[in-house]
Amino acid sequence: MKISRFKKSHKTLVFFATNFDYREPYQVLVDATFCQAALLHKIGIDEQIRKYFQCSAKLLTTQCVILEAEALGAPLTGATTLVKKFHVHKCGHEGKPVPAADCIKSMTKDNRYIIASQDRLLQESLRKIPGRCLLYLHKATPVLEAPSKASKKWVLKQAKDLMLGKHAAKIDYMKEKQGLKPVEATSSSTKRKGPKNPNPLSCKKSKKEKAKSPLQGVEQTALTKAKRKRVKIPAHVKAALGKD
Ligand SMILES: [Zn+2]
Repeated sequence: MKISRFKKSHKTLVFFATNFDYREPYQVLVDATFCQAALLHKIGIDEQIRKYFQCSAKLLTTQCVILEAEALGAPLTGATTLVKKFHVHKCGHEGKPVPAADCIKSMTKDNRYIIASQDRLLQESLRKIPGRCLLYLHKATPVLEAPSKASKKWVLKQAKDLMLGKHAAKIDYMKEKQGLKPVEATSSSTKRKGPKNPNPLSCKKSKKEKAKSPLQGVEQTALTKAKRKRVKIPAHVKAALGKD
């Protein structure tokens, strides 16, 4: 195998291992269409896949895949024989089989399978779901498909969310370092336990304060002066004054 091909497949495997938790030995879920293509190009699936991945891989299939291949009869006899040789994983459809494509889709929900299929409709629908890894035969050559747009988009979003989270944490850290604690933290830490002071704009002044008030003082003096003016001068005093 050419080095560039290995590099490509290795890069793809690393992508799925890093972002979607795919682990060795990689589990390859094979369907009858893949077996049919392998027969057509006279390749040994087991041998070719191990050689291509250059690491351990476990080939398996499901009962639904086998039953569908059997139902298709003569054209797929060879493929049916081939697919039956793989380990049969429980798919949850025992006793009530579903179409192979539906079975495979349901199998990929909770498990990390590399799907080996030539079924274009199945491939299309799996490409729309992040984290699905596809393997197909290009003539006699196995090809691990590069991550789909949906997978790349999902990974980018995760990275972006992580960056935003880290950025926010960094800002909080810097603020704390400079004594600029976040508003919530400050208000909660210095919260008064006892009753609050009354609002100075809404409260009435006490009598003492009223007396102290300079404006009030002026009014008071004026009032006193007015009162003084009205004080009656006794007649004898008037008479005495008149004498002066
Ligand atoms: Zn099934």
